[in-house]
Amino acid sequence: MLPRIVVYKTLPSDVLASLREQAQVELIDPAAFASRDAFSAALAHAFSEADGAIGASVKITPAMLEGAKRLRVLSTISVGVDHFDVPDLTRRGIVLTHTPDILTESTADTVFALILATARRVVELAQWVRAGHWRGSIGEAQYGLEVHGKTIGIIGLGRIGGAVARRAALGFDMRVLYTNRHANDAAEQAYGARRVPFAQLLAEADFVCLQVPLTHETQRLIGANELASMKRSAILINASRGAVVDEAALVDALANGTIAGAGLDVFEHEPLSADSPLLQMHHVVALPHIGSATHETRHAMACAAAQNLIEALAGRLARNIANPGVLAR
Ligand code: NAP
Repeated sequence: MLPRIVVYKTLPSDVLASLREQAQVELIDPAAFASRDAFSAALAHAFSEADGAIGASVKITPAMLEGAKRLRVLSTISVGVDHFDVPDLTRRGIVLTHTPDILTESTADTVFALILATARRVVELAQWVRAGHWRGSIGEAQYGLEVHGKTIGIIGLGRIGGAVARRAALGFDMRVLYTNRHANDAAEQAYGARRVPFAQLLAEADFVCLQVPLTHETQRLIGANELASMKRSAILINASRGAVVDEAALVDALANGTIAGAGLDVFEHEPLSADSPLLQMHHVVALPHIGSATHETRHAMACAAAQNLIEALAGRLARNIANPGVLAR
């Protein structure tokens, strides 16, 4: 008997076809529902009949799993697992799988796109040209800030932070500072990265890059005090999760010139509202959560997540488990 699975994100057709060969598939398309609540209710109902599920970007609450008596595996097409209550899944004996590594390089590329776009004012000046303002040779009003040779401070030097450090040190001759709970010896040796106290990183970095997971410990890690202790010329880059930053405090800091700019791929509430004050600020580059969003990487993530799901349902998965404690139960 094939396992029953719920698919709640549009998958590439080859990945869906492969899943259909190995499981009975129920599709729940978020776009087909008028509200998030209606979608969540449909998903909770589908979970009650399923052995496993695959999807992304949807908050899965304990309440949605109350009737899910046979559910054994949830497979997320992401590395971040902040949209799940991980201890609750472990208590229920549900394996949570994710897709680390595959998206590391494309997300680090996005971080560097934000660094360059903010420092060199790429988006703002491209719009300026489009608007017909380029009528003579440019002057100081169009100058940006240097990137190469500057100091980058990476808060969370793990897989993606390490790939950012490599680009910074080897590609842009930057000095790399970082904070982590544990030292990253490999990055220290390969890129000369230096682990420093949080306050020192904030005070010395020209680019403060957030790459920690969102947890109770990292929520609102950057607030008014932290922004005030950064250089006035510093730029904040966030490609981790929006809630790592107190967004209202960031808006104030940008409006008051406390920091020089921000490159943001993630926000407290996504999609970002069109009337967000961040979108009125010329020194902000806002992207629609595109960290890993290339054709190649998104396809590889979907393949990996589908494979995680099938292998975990068969009891064969030994990697990519976000709650390994579940196996010890
Ligand atoms: P990772 O390898 O686990 O790296 C996370 C780093 O954060 C680790 O070095 C960890 O080091 C450090 N850290 C510092 N404080 C922490 C804390 N309180 N709790 C946990 N870790 C802490 O993860 P990754 O693959 O680089 O991904 C990082 C995050 O990036 C993801 O969780 C996700 O939220 C985000 N992301 C965003 C996008 C996007 O589209 N924008 C794409 C992919 C990932 P210590 O354990 O030593 O502290």
